[in-house]
Amino acid sequence: MPLSRYTTIGTGGLAQYLAEPTEESALLAMLSWAEERDLTIAVIGLGSNLLPADAGFAGLVLRLDGALAAIDVTDAGATVGGGAALAAVVRKVGDAGLAGFEFACAIPGTIGGAVRMNAGAYGRELKDTLVSVTICSATGSRRARVDELELTYRHSNLRPGEIVTQAELALAPGDPAAIKALVRDYQDRRSAAQPRKARTFGSVFKNPPGEQTSGQILEACGLKGYTVGGARISEKHANFIENFAEATSADVVALMIEARRRAREQFGVELEHEVQTLGEIVIPPA
Ligand SMILES: Cc1cc2nc3c(=O)[nH]c(=O)nc-3n(C[C@H](O)[C@H](O)[C@H](O)COP(=O)(O)OP(=O)(O)OC[C@H]3O[C@@H](n4cnc5c(N)ncnc54)[C@H](O)[C@@H]3O)c2cc1C
Repeated sequence: MPLSRYTTIGTGGLAQYLAEPTEESALLAMLSWAEERDLTIAVIGLGSNLLPADAGFAGLVLRLDGALAAIDVTDAGATVGGGAALAAVVRKVGDAGLAGFEFACAIPGTIGGAVRMNAGAYGRELKDTLVSVTICSATGSRRARVDELELTYRHSNLRPGEIVTQAELALAPGDPAAIKALVRDYQDRRSAAQPRKARTFGSVFKNPPGEQTSGQILEACGLKGYTVGGARISEKHANFIENFAEATSADVVALMIEARRRAREQFGVELEHEVQTLGEIVIPPA
């Protein structure tokens, strides 16, 4: 199965092996199996911040499902499987009258991907509600407190092959109607500012230090609508790349290289990509 089927941008070649474990014991067995064969391991969530190589991935790709994507709401938060979709968590905790997770409605990923990326929106990040996680790797399962993960802007210290299988969230009591209204407000704001129907992987670059966002810099570089093959820089938001006509990852990378070159030449800014790559993809410095 091509990885293009598992990413929101819709590009990427075949994975050598792909498996969907539904419980921790099965996941640990798969990790040992891969370790014995010296296979590289990658985990993917909803592929919403992922660019896999057109040549595919030589190794084992894992997607968490079943008990590893379960959501248990408690009195003061939730215990959530790493494969659970953020949208489902937002809905469940909101219905239970637990506030603080509304920001995640704008992020189309899983809990595991959101921990790895310390995903955030509207001034909140995953680390604001995270208490601890369970991490599985070829060496077994361990728990880590949030402060052990070094969560900063779109960064954690999780390494490839370290898989977040569960997360504990701490949330505050809130009024379900007010929570729903806030979620609706965030979603409306998103629809106004970003391409919603196009195939994208969210922000291409992190925002650099300083006043200007990556989107503002790339717009000022005249890049809106700039096209390579089937990929183009969004007319709506210059820090988004859209797959509008069977784009390849190579098309996307070519756009990223051009965007970095212009940001450096015109603004003296080195843009760092936020999107994660899988397989042999090289994005050379500007
Ligand atoms: C329209 C759109 C809007 C977006 N808006 C935002 C936004 O507002 N804020 C924001 O932060 N992001 C945003 N994103 C990007 C993306 O949704 C987030 O980065 C999200 O956290 C990625 O989650 P995922 O499960 O899809 O991970 P993937 O894209 O599948 O993977 C991303 C990285 O996480 C790792 N990973 C995935 N699952 C696990 C796991 N269980 N354990 C360990 N590592 C794992 C992968 O190996 C990879 O390195 C947006 C994307 C889109 C398409």
